Amino acid sequence: MERDLGAVFDVDHDDLREHFERDTYRGRAYHYLPDARHGVERGTVVVDDVVVRGFPSIPRTLVLDPGVADFFDGPVAIEEKLNGYNVRIARTDGDVYAFTRSGYICPFTTDLARELPVEDFFDDHPERVLCGELIGPENPYTTHDYDEVETAALRVFDVRHRESGDPLPVADRRELCDSYDLPAVPEFGVYDPDDAVAAVRETISDLDEREREGVVMKSADGRRALKYTTSAIHRADLAHAFDKPYDYGRDFLFARIIREAYQAVEFADSDGEARERARDMGEAILLPAIESIRDVREGEPIGDEHTIRGDPATIEAQLNRFREYGLHLEISEDYYDEGERVVTFLKVADASRDKIEHFLDGGTIDE
Ligand code: ATP
Ligand code: MG
Repeated sequence: MERDLGAVFDVDHDDLREHFERDTYRGRAYHYLPDARHGVERGTVVVDDVVVRGFPSIPRTLVLDPGVADFFDGPVAIEEKLNGYNVRIARTDGDVYAFTRSGYICPFTTDLARELPVEDFFDDHPERVLCGELIGPENPYTTHDYDEVETAALRVFDVRHRESGDPLPVADRRELCDSYDLPAVPEFGVYDPDDAVAAVRETISDLDEREREGVVMKSADGRRALKYTTSAIHRADLAHAFDKPYDYGRDFLFARIIREAYQAVEFADSDGEARERARDMGEAILLPAIESIRDVREGEPIGDEHTIRGDPATIEAQLNRFREYGLHLEISEDYYDEGERVVTFLKVADASRDKIEHFLDGGTIDE
């Protein structure tokens, strides 16, 4: 890495440099920061000696009132929080790359990004990075489905300066996306902080019914953001974790239960409604766990199923990458469709399966 990080981040170059990891994309070396260090965001990348800042962490409020009014001192833009994976797209030295949250240049996502009308955008705004959520049923990382997305698709939620990380104001960013035909996350309007609570509450109820994730509220200048999520996603997250109960940390599970508890206090108007939430959450936790234990007892594999489609070499690279990382894949379908390779695979939850087998065999536990 030639680039002087000291000049960009105002920290000692060598101190920061030692935390970067080296990787390659199609033979080209790049460096990324797997964990936040010296105030520099996780996922910060140096590629072709260009620095692309990691995407910052967004705080969450557990209560809308007074969480929202306390956090914002001006108009609040409400946008949908989509449930996929975080992607940054930048162009360096003529090449467009897509980075995952941790700074990995993802071959699958990079191919997808190159099919978007991004070249015109980068011709005019070479130093910007497009930040968005990659959603849809056909992707290697997440499993949430959206009715309106058939395969895999990007929804832009931020346009930043790649090196300083400075965001564009919300309205400018939306206009810019529009003018370059770049698809953006859904929006639900702009409100004064005092009115925002009622608006978010109504939006959340509607999103909850549609089993969508939640909202991200943003200040007009794009510099402050706050997230809040639906009961539907708390349950979906729990169901997703409890069908492989030993593959998730306990913090993950505890956080979802707590989010729901605060929301119930704020949203559930009667004891009946609170009880209904309790029942729904119990089912979301227990039913998937029961099903998985049964599956293991029957000798069936457990884990997450994904389908990916794309250029055959890219699909191969993606599968190899997962295997290098030690993921155990079970391929159930593999075929070609108009020159694209389509593969359906299970990311086998080995840790959970082994533990469940152990306990089904009568293994004891010290608790
Ligand atoms: P962190 O806590 O570090 O932000 P996380 O992955 O746990 O990490 P999430 O709870 O998923 O974070 O919430 C933040 C993420 O939400 C963002 O990183 C982004 O990928 C995603 N996101 C989806 N829609 C939006 C949106 N409209 N605005 C901003 N971020 C969004
Ligand atoms: Mg997310």
